[in-house]
Amino acid sequence: MESQHRNGSRKHYHAMSGTPGCIPDYNAHCETMDIAVSSLTDLFELSDDEQSELEDRRFIWLNPDRGASYAEVACCTDTCDPFQFD
Ligand SMILES: [Zn+2]
Repeated sequence: MESQHRNGSRKHYHAMSGTPGCIPDYNAHCETMDIAVSSLTDLFELSDDEQSELEDRRFIWLNPDRGASYAEVACCTDTCDPFQFD
């Protein structure tokens, strides 16, 4: 229990995507913003423009045809359990 939450208070990022108003379909726990951005870039095959917009705003709208309505990178300092996400 203790060791499981060892890094829980450390600042980290979540790579998320889904439909507004719903629990995110995808919620990956990432150590850095770069990792979060590249995981969403790989997942949705983002163009260079979309990738820079995501880096700048930490949020972009997607065409739902691509499997999600938005992609978002959220900074998190909560004691969330990394094993809960994947
Ligand atoms: Zn978190």
